[in-house]
Amino acid sequence: MSTIYPTLEIPETLAAGPGPGNTDPRVLERFYKTGVADHMQADVVRGMAEAKEMLRTAWGTKNIHTFGVGGTGFSGLDCAYSPILPGDKVVAFVNGTFSGIDGLAIRMKASSLEDLAADPLNPQPSNVTIVDVPHGQSVTGDIVDAALAKDKPMWACMAHWETGSGRINDLQGFNDACAKHGVMGIVDAVSSLGIAKFDIDDYPAVKIWASCPQKGVLALPLTYAPVSFTDDAIAVLAKRGCYTYVHNPILEARHWGVVDGKDGVAAGYHRTHSCYAVASFHEALRLLLTHGREQKAADYTFHEKILSEAVQGLGCEVTSNMTSLVVLNLPGKFAGREKELVGGCRAENFGIWPTLSEPTQIRIGILNQLTEAAITEIVSRFADAMIKMGAEVDKDGVLSKVKADFAA
Ligand SMILES: *Cc1c(COP(=O)(O)O)cnc(C)c1O
Repeated sequence: MSTIYPTLEIPETLAAGPGPGNTDPRVLERFYKTGVADHMQADVVRGMAEAKEMLRTAWGTKNIHTFGVGGTGFSGLDCAYSPILPGDKVVAFVNGTFSGIDGLAIRMKASSLEDLAADPLNPQPSNVTIVDVPHGQSVTGDIVDAALAKDKPMWACMAHWETGSGRINDLQGFNDACAKHGVMGIVDAVSSLGIAKFDIDDYPAVKIWASCPQKGVLALPLTYAPVSFTDDAIAVLAKRGCYTYVHNPILEARHWGVVDGKDGVAAGYHRTHSCYAVASFHEALRLLLTHGREQKAADYTFHEKILSEAVQGLGCEVTSNMTSLVVLNLPGKFAGREKELVGGCRAENFGIWPTLSEPTQIRIGILNQLTEAAITEIVSRFADAMIKMGAEVDKDGVLSKVKADFAA
């Protein structure tokens, strides 16, 4: 028996989690108002070339191999990790959910056939060292330096901003340690690109970078995950190859008009890109660059501070330092009830999140919520959820302070 279900309706929610962000209507409009056109049509190919150039500005780089990988953040990361081959020595730093998954993806790539067969979904190759940093703490330059001095790996990998715990890791320290020990750095910048202002060319020991469509870049989910590879990384790949066609950075770049390390070349077919995805991604990049990377970073810092102080005013303890996300513990009396509170909010289309790995905390994000009205709404709804749980909070006092902070 087969069922034809009714049309799928999905409500508008207040997307106040780690991502996806609240998509700008202009980005959505470019998706649905774009005409159907194939992946080699002139305007589609031109749009990809323009997006590639805007992406270089967004990343702060002259890297020729800078483009978008169709899919989610982990699609971009899969492409970024593709130069890692079985047997390569790798050190990966883990301080939360996402860097934990990065560590798994890296262990899979660096595994021998025997390593994979021994534990197919969670291989433990001896050539990969996972350095665990406790949840709620940042990876520091000293931690990276000590691990690289000891292991002398070929590659080192770290998340720039670990969205699982809301912690900013030390990018400068990571770069400097990689430079000192002659290690090729790979950085997961999924949740920092488009939020923090940084130029990847200022970190020359980091050879490979990957981000996602739907967080700081605020493109539609599943369109393009931005990646960037230095010439050094591409040279290693050109010499050794890798075990993927789709996520081979040299082949992927061809459709973006990068052939034999040169730009501005006629694009070659690699796979069927979407005219809708290209047009909406292009618009998201236009919005980011029009806002200005520096201004946008300052706006996140300003709004996150107000939200963070407001939830502390409600009695919560904040343990994060990212500027797009607040990670908090409920007041002691309510410890252990985080999932219940989040579940209640989500049932009312207020999309906040718990942490996905231990310990359980609450995560409230402000992607594209950079207005007084949006922050006030988030604080107000969160206060209501705490009150519903039985907390005695000074909602009016906290909201007056939010108002005063915006007026200051
Ligand atoms: C969100 C996130 C990811 C995963 O991105 P997807 O788009 O869900 O695949 C990976 N790393 C970090 C640091 C993230 O914040």
